Amino acid sequence: MSKAELPGDRERRLQELEQALSDREHELELLKETANAVGGQLDLDTVLQLIADRARRLIQAETLLIPILDENCREYTYRAGAGKNAEEIIGESLPLNYGVCGWVWRHRRPWWRGMLDELTEVERNRWEREAGTLIMVPLMGKGHFLGGIAGINKIGAEEFSRQDLNLLTLFASQVSIAIENAMAYAELAKAKSEAEAYQSDLSQLNSELTTINKELERIALYDQLTGLPNRLLIQDRLQQALFAAQRGNYQVAVMMVDLDSFKEVNDTLGHDAGDQLLKQVSERFSAELRHTDTVGRLGGDEFALIIPGASTEIAAQIAGNLLKSLDTEFEIENMRFSVGASIGVAFYPEDGADVATVLKHADMAMYIAKRNHDGFTLYNAEEDSFQPGRLTMATDLRQAMVNREFDMHYQPKIDLRTGALYGVEALARWPHSERGFVRPAEFVPILEHTGMIRAFSLWAIERGLHQCAVWQGMGLDLTVAVNLSMQNLLDPRFPDQLINLIERAKLPKPGLVLEITESVFLSEHSKVRGVLSLLQKQGVSFSIDDFGTGHSSLSRLKKLPVSELKIDQSFVKDMEQDRDDAIIVRSTIDLAHNLGLQVIAEGVTNESTLRLLTDMGCDMAQGFYISRPLPVDEFHFFIENTRWKVNKLPLSAARSG
Ligand code: C2E
Ligand code: CA
Ligand code: CA
Repeated sequence: MSKAELPGDRERRLQELEQALSDREHELELLKETANAVGGQLDLDTVLQLIADRARRLIQAETLLIPILDENCREYTYRAGAGKNAEEIIGESLPLNYGVCGWVWRHRRPWWRGMLDELTEVERNRWEREAGTLIMVPLMGKGHFLGGIAGINKIGAEEFSRQDLNLLTLFASQVSIAIENAMAYAELAKAKSEAEAYQSDLSQLNSELTTINKELERIALYDQLTGLPNRLLIQDRLQQALFAAQRGNYQVAVMMVDLDSFKEVNDTLGHDAGDQLLKQVSERFSAELRHTDTVGRLGGDEFALIIPGASTEIAAQIAGNLLKSLDTEFEIENMRFSVGASIGVAFYPEDGADVATVLKHADMAMYIAKRNHDGFTLYNAEEDSFQPGRLTMATDLRQAMVNREFDMHYQPKIDLRTGALYGVEALARWPHSERGFVRPAEFVPILEHTGMIRAFSLWAIERGLHQCAVWQGMGLDLTVAVNLSMQNLLDPRFPDQLINLIERAKLPKPGLVLEITESVFLSEHSKVRGVLSLLQKQGVSFSIDDFGTGHSSLSRLKKLPVSELKIDQSFVKDMEQDRDDAIIVRSTIDLAHNLGLQVIAEGVTNESTLRLLTDMGCDMAQGFYISRPLPVDEFHFFIENTRWKVNKLPLSAARSG
């Protein structure tokens, strides 16, 4: 205070000082209060809004805005504001080099009117208009630019003062730390939520992975069709069962089950029906088991059972129950039919000390059961030494097909009304270097199973036709019956193949009979009927083989172009003693005759059966009593010496042949 001052001046000066002091106190209060309010806040938008409000009050601005540099550092956005029109501007983004904010950013210095003096001529002209009404200070983080605080239009004055500039600069330096903290926090929160999202994605993926793994395991270890354990799992379960049995010192029964004539169902009714059948069979089998037992499907129509602790008696009882469970007819696609099964049983440790051996021996026993039509068979080590495995058999058969190693034997058929030998059934024989003559009951099922039967049947037909032609050339009027597989009948190429063979044989007189089993009734009628009719026109006649063993009704038969019924030998062989069999044979003969069919009885083993059949009106007969199946030369010897007269062709026909 100088001595030159007048008392009035001093008074005024004092008042001004007091006013300034009060202002400073007020400002200080505001700064402190802002620092407090902002210091505890972490949400960036809240922080910025607090700052905008306090700053506007601090410098008495009509409008206050806070532009903040964007993450990309190329634009700034008005993130908060207060006062007139602020609402409209908040959220706007502008290029960084644009406007006052751009200037502040470039120069890292505050802007206010006083700046104009420091500007170049050009810049001054450019900024002068805005300069008076605008003040802006930079917000600096730790060494880098965050944005700024801008006041527009000083309330009640022309322009912002240096005092305002200083205050706002101080204010900015105070709050910039809070802003930076909030920014860091926002980044942290973002990272955290990203991490959480990632974590949740990860756990989602993890749970999906677990599901997929479970699904994979299911596919790898369970049969998709029946839901039963598959071969892999059965082997594993068996291994576990054997370990447990070894510890507990008890035995384990292992059963191999193979359905009989499943392939025919599959071929004639289609795969869907076959699948249905397998499902139903697996349900019936499962119902027979205790919870400690396991049933699995090994593939195709093969099932395996593991029965820990089963004695021979119990195993036999369970096998019997399994077979019995199949007795009730299956109903699939409105068809009713039954399938049988063959079961082989082997025991740990007696028949094998490890998984592979027990399974192999159960398989062998099953194979014997199948061959002998035994239902089930217990493994017998002595029998085994003669039993070739089915696999090597299949390999040998393939080779035999290529080399045409098969032979044909012929069994005479007698007409009971005339006493004449009118035809033969061609029965295949397989002479094997190590196994001797392998019976068709052993190798035909394998041919069926592997599909080789189709080519085999064509060979048999060709052979039969050739023999028929030879005999006709010799003046013998003999029909030749060949056994046909359903697989051939269902093969669309078959009619042409057969017609081709017939043409090549150049028979003077038709003489081919094809024997088909009852499963022909299962098939789509119209399709098979079409094929049979077509071939009938080529001079082929059809005979239903093994009649009575299947579940067909004669009424269905009526609709097929079939001329002959062969009563199965199981009814014929005991018909003398067994009244039921005799009744079946008699009624079959009567019914067949009513339908205009001829009847042949097979398996005739003695004179009295032959007489009984003749009395019943049976048309024809075949069996060991008349003759066993014979190789060609023996057959020739037979017809020279037999009491049966042999059908001869009229001379003219024989010569032309
Ligand atoms: P199948 O068609 O029922 O043939 C009759 C079978 O009964 C023949 O057995 C025959 O030797 C036998 N047999 C004939 N008379 C008597 C008898 O009085 N008593 C007894 N116990 N048996 C008699 P085989 O030759 O062992 O043939 C068995 C089966 O193999 C045949 O049964 C047939 O289903 C099949 N088979 C044979 N050859 C062929 C063939 O070339 N193709 C096809 N697809 N199957 C064939
Ligand atoms: Ca036959
Ligand atoms: Ca037969």
